[in-house]
Amino acid sequence: MFASLLLSWYDANHRVLPFRGTKDPYRIWVSEIMLQQTRTETVAGYYTRFLDRFPDVFSLADAPEEDVLKCWEGLGYYSRARNLHKAAKVVAEKYEGKFPADLELLRALPGVGDYTAAAVASIAFDIPAPAMDGNLTRVLSRFHGVREDVDIPAVKRRLAGLGREDMPDTRCGDFNQAMMDLGATVCTPGTPDCEACPLRPLCDAYKAGDAETLPIKAAAKPPKDVAMAVALITCRGRIWMTRRQEALLKNLWVYQLTENAESGTDVEKAIKNLGIRAGYQSDLGKARHVFTHRVWNMTLYHYEAESADCKEGRFVTLSEMNALPIPTAMKAAKEQAVRLLTPEILPMDEALLPEVAAAYSASWKKAHAAHCDPDFLEDHTPAYMEAKLRDYLSWGNEIYALRLSGKTAGVLAIDRKHNELATLYIAPDWQGLGIGKAAVAFAVRELDDTRAMKVTTLAKNERATRLYHSYGFRHKAKTRFLDRKQTLAEIDWLRSPTGKGKKTT
Ligand code: SF4
Repeated sequence: MFASLLLSWYDANHRVLPFRGTKDPYRIWVSEIMLQQTRTETVAGYYTRFLDRFPDVFSLADAPEEDVLKCWEGLGYYSRARNLHKAAKVVAEKYEGKFPADLELLRALPGVGDYTAAAVASIAFDIPAPAMDGNLTRVLSRFHGVREDVDIPAVKRRLAGLGREDMPDTRCGDFNQAMMDLGATVCTPGTPDCEACPLRPLCDAYKAGDAETLPIKAAAKPPKDVAMAVALITCRGRIWMTRRQEALLKNLWVYQLTENAESGTDVEKAIKNLGIRAGYQSDLGKARHVFTHRVWNMTLYHYEAESADCKEGRFVTLSEMNALPIPTAMKAAKEQAVRLLTPEILPMDEALLPEVAAAYSASWKKAHAAHCDPDFLEDHTPAYMEAKLRDYLSWGNEIYALRLSGKTAGVLAIDRKHNELATLYIAPDWQGLGIGKAAVAFAVRELDDTRAMKVTTLAKNERATRLYHSYGFRHKAKTRFLDRKQTLAEIDWLRSPTGKGKKTT
């Protein structure tokens, strides 16, 4: 009676979910692991992306663990992803890619508990096994009037036995999914919608009027508070990260973490133990992340290292950081890291002028080292460049400081009158970090799209050639030689008017 009432209701009212309607045990297993501790709406997007990346058990088994963790990024409870990967290897190697149609063998796979084994066995193979999650526990305890703590092992076993008795011999997967849907939409936590429930005529709690108090659970222990200092250690446009070895968030990439740090001195000691010499720059605010058994109350700091030497971990660029699996607990820290690693373009002011002149001097000397005689190079001191920048300003050029992680890394000058990107230099230590690209994008936005844009580079600067080419600049035929031996040459680049006019945003 229980099963026929439930299945008739399910046929008319079942939820339409992206992971339903398949008998493929691989797909069912992936969705059931994802659904543990995670809302159905959250899982939907992850499920589709995960299966696009790992369409079958062999592709998952063959993938590096880091790729699996990256695909799982943001779902939390990362041990699920690590176990999913381990279990895929077992199925691929021991069972030749075929999931065993056996409850006990499924249960023996890494990360597969009673619930998941029962869900896969019933949905994929029609094996009668109740998938005892929170929904089934609630519906069965109310329906059968079980008024004892459902976390006590003997009570758990009794409820699973009642579930098995209520289960039909066929449509076992539909029975479990119907119970899940009833628990999620009708027999919900708190006040259930008994008027809409197909089981109402036989329900003990409905008759007794105490459904709201069931299931009985002992009060959970509150999670433990942990003070965590998070240091974002940058070094010339890169940031230090490490692959975590501790059980919590194992193998995920994090910034420097100091548990129970009582002062900045503790953080500095921890940084020194990594073999990094770094100076404090600023506080970056606070963040909080709640795990099942603990809460991290995080304080974020920014440090700048003197060099990229370190005993463990490594300094990574923004694009390298974005490719690593980083846990949600680091969300606020990652946002700050992205900000620190994103180039800033600031209008020049007197305070910035010496730093910009120093970066200009260093990069000019490097760019011209192969062509100019040493004395001429040495003449291009920061003081000389500062005077040159003042000249540019007096001619009406706009000068910008190019900065990264709070440091000045280069200079950009634009000449609106001649619609020209007049100067762009990035200091040698700061090249290859996307600063030049950000500066050219900025200049193209600022200059007039309806007129030809101009820029001049040295003839043999391949990096600049690629960059300007990607922004639509093309060689003007003429090459100007700058010395009598004709070893040093400049070329002009032109970007045709687009006719679109300037962007207003
Ligand atoms: S009648 Fe009410 S309490 Fe009983 S199973 Fe249905 S929704 Fe739950």
